[in-house]
Amino acid sequence: MTNLLKRLSLLFAFAIVACQPNAPKGDSNEEETIGNHIVVTTSLLRDMVENLLPKGEYKIESLMGSGVDPHIYKPTRKDVQRLREADVVIFNGLHLEGRMGEIKEQLAKKQRVLTASDAFNKERFINNSEFEDGQDPHFWFDLPMWIDAGAHISRELKELYPHHSDDIANNFEQWATAIKYLYREVFEILSVVPENKRIIITSHDALSYFAREFSFEVNSLQGSSTSAEFGVKDVKDMVDFIISNEIPAIFPENITSDQALEAIVKGCEKRGYELKIAEELYSDALGEAGTDAATFEGMVRANAVTIAEALK
Ligand SMILES: [Zn+2]
Repeated sequence: MTNLLKRLSLLFAFAIVACQPNAPKGDSNEEETIGNHIVVTTSLLRDMVENLLPKGEYKIESLMGSGVDPHIYKPTRKDVQRLREADVVIFNGLHLEGRMGEIKEQLAKKQRVLTASDAFNKERFINNSEFEDGQDPHFWFDLPMWIDAGAHISRELKELYPHHSDDIANNFEQWATAIKYLYREVFEILSVVPENKRIIITSHDALSYFAREFSFEVNSLQGSSTSAEFGVKDVKDMVDFIISNEIPAIFPENITSDQALEAIVKGCEKRGYELKIAEELYSDALGEAGTDAATFEGMVRANAVTIAEALK
């Protein structure tokens, strides 16, 4: 009898809470409704967040468009205003947004700021002393990591927008499944590249995670950040490396100039070695709207096809 009473009173208490959609949780003032205007830093994050949130309900903007280099991107006064007006701001983190550290700190004092790299323990990152944090911020090219970053952002969004919690959970499942398929597809596309040809040379080191996942080696002229300079010695060392490894092609990127790569091609030419410049890879930003690489899935697939074509 006592048990039945307990169960009835629990049921009753639950019914009361369920009938009060705006019932505050605990005694904090955290239950204020948060607006639906979200500003993210990169086009890659925009693609993720657009996939996670229910369509047509949120205003999602990216500060940087396609082809923009986040390492050296300096927000304009108008950008700062956009950031301040947003209800939620989302960063990649690990100093990818190299010149936005200060504004991020300021925003976090007054606004909801989420960071994709907070999804991970440090052990999952690739160490690279050339980066400010000592870790490589290009983790989207490790597709299982990008899924985990999406899981982290979903959890945060569900807390901010509890009325859309189920939608966000369903959207995350669909999005993650699509990336898992893509992951297998990329292995398939790259299977034509022989083991001794699995070297990707770019202007900056954006593809270390890609290389770790898909068994490639990477080398670059400017190291990990596009803001680094390169010298005559760097070019000579790279030319030596290319000739001794019989590398057929090197890869330009959609966010950097081709100047560095042209210097290498000329250096090879002088030594009688013909080196091709392959199609462009999409590194730190999506392709233009309307192209195949305008989504994360499309961008990763396009890169895999370009690498396979150039090195097979
Ligand atoms: Zn980069």
